[in-house]
Amino acid sequence: MSDTLTIALSKGRIFKETLPLLAHAGIVPIDDPETSRKLILDTNHPDVKLVIIRASDVPTYVEYGAADLGVAGKDVLMEHGGDGLYEPLDLKIARCKLMVAGPVGQPEPTGRMKIATKFVHSTRRYYASLGKQVEIIKLYGSMELAPLVGLADRIVDLVDTGNTLRANGLEPLEHIAEVSSRLIVNKASMKMKHARMRAFIEQIAEAVDGREK
Ligand code: AMP
Repeated sequence: MSDTLTIALSKGRIFKETLPLLAHAGIVPIDDPETSRKLILDTNHPDVKLVIIRASDVPTYVEYGAADLGVAGKDVLMEHGGDGLYEPLDLKIARCKLMVAGPVGQPEPTGRMKIATKFVHSTRRYYASLGKQVEIIKLYGSMELAPLVGLADRIVDLVDTGNTLRANGLEPLEHIAEVSSRLIVNKASMKMKHARMRAFIEQIAEAVDGREK
């Protein structure tokens, strides 16, 4: 195995908030993913590459070793299941909450509730832990619409400021989990490139601690 480090990231918030942490480890991308169409970005280190992929694909790339490391939201990791990955570090970025929400003031319907979400596994686990039978309707986006058009009684979605819920006449009801982005690591890379990976993880950990102070 070569000593190149490949780091998987998604565009947008995670990329922007990871940049200063990478900079602390001395890694600066040469291209900007918001303007470049390249999917593999070179950095100032010839042996460090960034791959830019969909957030929900990051755990898959890292699990199969196509990337040594990655940054993924806890929401994505809870859906993926943690197998084949180490999760050594909470980066404390892109923070939000996974919540149940519903129309303002609407009491819980009797009978089996319909829950619209893209977080099917987390939602199933949550209601199973309450011993409640619900029908889960898988959506890929704009979950807030579902209760407004009678598709579902409740949604399970990420909430940050709550503005998206409010704008659609919804309110947060139940807190399922705190979400933040995590550094994830391929298990084989951790063995084969141990010194390199440890040094990188330590530098990122230092950057996270430095920002907390
Ligand atoms: P807000 O209106 O600030 O509560 O943000 C809610 C919207 O932004 C929802 O559509 C969420 O899916 C999305 N969102 C909020 N925080 C995050 C995050 N950390 N990662 C991904 N999506 C998020």
